[in-house]
Amino acid sequence: MKRGNLEIKKPISVNWHFWPWCNMKCRFCFATFNDVKKVLPKKMALCVPKMLRDAGTEKITFVGGEPMLCPYLGELLIEAKKQGLKTKIVSNGTGFTKEFLIKYSQFIDQVSLSIDSASNQIEKELGRGWGAHVDKILKVSKLLKEFHIPMQINTTVTKLTYTEDLHELIKALQPFRWKVFQVLKIEGQNDGRVEELLITKTEYEEFKLRHKDIPIAVFEDNELITGSYIMLDPVGRFFDDTTGKHVYSESIFSVGVQKAFSQITWESQKFLKRGGLYFQSPLKKSFNSYNGNIIRS
Ligand code: SF4
Repeated sequence: MKRGNLEIKKPISVNWHFWPWCNMKCRFCFATFNDVKKVLPKKMALCVPKMLRDAGTEKITFVGGEPMLCPYLGELLIEAKKQGLKTKIVSNGTGFTKEFLIKYSQFIDQVSLSIDSASNQIEKELGRGWGAHVDKILKVSKLLKEFHIPMQINTTVTKLTYTEDLHELIKALQPFRWKVFQVLKIEGQNDGRVEELLITKTEYEEFKLRHKDIPIAVFEDNELITGSYIMLDPVGRFFDDTTGKHVYSESIFSVGVQKAFSQITWESQKFLKRGGLYFQSPLKKSFNSYNGNIIRS
């Protein structure tokens, strides 16, 4: 594997959408899985980390729906660490209690929390929570710091938010990384709900320009998002959205990880362009790197 013209052939970093159900109804959500409202039996799910590791995976990201709603997420985290994988949870903030973290924080390498606006009301209008989402994320971010878990923030920029200035919010949250996505329409997942939230590339660039002094920000417009993630669905199929909808491979349990992976489109150059290998650097060193100062690395 060489950098530069690097071509990665293995599923090095997998977003496993293992739990399709969510307690929120974000209007822009492109992981509703209305077409896949079932999961692998727990026993099979627990085999997935090893299957991925054997195929060259280094990092597994537990995504949903809302992964924290799964009653055996803790067991999956333990299994993933047993296999030597880096672990990450992408969450809307649900379920992060002291009790959960006392039990499982040692098996979590990082957490991504989703927040799109500094306004509780706008979050509610977006379908993200019930009017107190910002307060909730601020609270959860403090708890994660208490447990020394590196925290990333994920923000989706929409028609309701592209004119916002989020410097103060990011300063208050102090993530080690801030991912900024352009809202994306995916047929079968959010069409019929997302249209009035869509923004043009120029509007996205306007938001980006306003925040370009934040050194931990990673900006991903529609072009960069599409095809740059390796995604596994709730029943063990890889999928991509390069055609504007989820297209699924055969199951990893039927044809194996490598063959299933070869059936989807994944563009490793795009993955690298958006800094997808960041997890290979020590995370804890960069924890709390943004506190409002301009830090360039
Ligand atoms: S919290 Fe995440 S998974 Fe749930 S509806 Fe919103 S975007 Fe979708």
